Amino acid sequence: MKIYNTITRKKEEFKPIDENELKIYVCGPTVYNYFHIGNARPFVIFDTLRRYLEFKGYNVKYVQNFTDVDDKIINRAREEKLTVSQVSEKYIKEYFKDAGDLNIKNATVHPRVTENMEDIIQFISGLIEKGYAYVTDGDVYFDTKKFKDYGKLSRQNMNELDTGARVEVDSRKRNPMDFALWKAQKKEDEIAWEAPWGKGRPGWHIECSVMATKYLGETIDIHAGGQDLVFPHHENEVAQSEALTGKPFANYWMHNEFINIDNEKMSKSKGNFFMVRDILKEYEPEVVRFFLISGHYRSPINFSRDLMIQSKNALARLNNAKVNMEYFLSNAKESELQPEEADKIKEFMQYKDKFIESMEDDLNTADAISAVFELVREINSSMTDKSSRAFVQSSYDLFMELVGVLGILQKSKSEEVEDEVQKLVDERQLARKNRDFARADEIRDILKAKGITLEDTPQGVRIIREN
Ligand code: AMP
Ligand code: ZN
Repeated sequence: MKIYNTITRKKEEFKPIDENELKIYVCGPTVYNYFHIGNARPFVIFDTLRRYLEFKGYNVKYVQNFTDVDDKIINRAREEKLTVSQVSEKYIKEYFKDAGDLNIKNATVHPRVTENMEDIIQFISGLIEKGYAYVTDGDVYFDTKKFKDYGKLSRQNMNELDTGARVEVDSRKRNPMDFALWKAQKKEDEIAWEAPWGKGRPGWHIECSVMATKYLGETIDIHAGGQDLVFPHHENEVAQSEALTGKPFANYWMHNEFINIDNEKMSKSKGNFFMVRDILKEYEPEVVRFFLISGHYRSPINFSRDLMIQSKNALARLNNAKVNMEYFLSNAKESELQPEEADKIKEFMQYKDKFIESMEDDLNTADAISAVFELVREINSSMTDKSSRAFVQSSYDLFMELVGVLGILQKSKSEEVEDEVQKLVDERQLARKNRDFARADEIRDILKAKGITLEDTPQGVRIIREN
């Protein structure tokens, strides 16, 4: 497989460190809010990369962190009169809900900053001992001048960086580009941990160096995230990790381009964002996942309703093909594969080859999806009432294998029905809470027509089905 490696700015043949287990680290969310559709892009893209590598037969150890202590979380906790951990716990739960809806697999490990404090302190101590970090008034900074390769990932020249940073220079820093590994506690009631150089909390960058090396080893195969993380976050991760271990930190760096709104990056700080949670009220989760993989990950996408509708229609075409095959599968008369059908199956395999070729080319999901559409067109035109079950089954298995790699169309019909019922039950609860009893009654009637009655109990709603 070829991967575009940010550090070399080239597409390179992917060579794993250990064929038996790939090591991938993806920067996860800062949990102070629901995630927006821009944040969802790396989560879905690198989940698709993982699925593809697993399809190729690799065992993948996949680590994605939660930043569960940070200024934004602290501010939110203050606003809502909650503790930091109440805020982060809440949004970690919400992450899993949205990620589950988008069919993003759980990582092998989802480490959190607050659960790795000992390791973080040890890592910083190591950097101080080696002379790469220094303490000033209880803060600890990384000495960027000491790390001669500083700037190698983002390809920036140290002198230019210094000039740029001098504007907001902090007199406690030795060099303008130095960054905080540890921030001293400023107020008595501020969340803090004990460390040899004083109470405080870690800076943002250090957590990923610590958790990647702790869970995956000193050199990992792939490190990934959004384009905005190249500098300073990933540059700083490289500096911290390589300064401490003396070994390359990650062999391949992958970065996805942005989801934009009117050509501007979607971001929480600009306020031009759509929460995944809100989009899911209007579109099926699969439509959102399909939208996110329908373009190549290194091309920016302008988010728009038109694109969502296009994705919805495209996905419906694939779903129709699936339903058709399921129909033929339960109605086929002949079971044995006919000779001309065997030829057809061979033809179909061309599309699997094309699918693989596309994915091998730096995860080109856009072309891989085209191959699936070509396959579907062929299957649709070959399948008739007279097709054998063996033929339909082989076509179906092939189709399901490819869409499985993309993480779409995995639900059975009964699961889809279940989801639909649950959605209505949830909507009814919300309507009742908002005292919209007309809508609540309407939903009760819709469910009744499906043979489902609801009973409100102190423990919640009981769903009772006829037969
Ligand atoms: P955050 O929670 O802001 O640290 O972001 C989580 C992930 O989303 C990171 O990998 C970011 O690079 C990525 N990200 C943030 N905004 C966008 C966007 N508009 N488009 C694509 N990726 C984004
Ligand atoms: Zn990170």
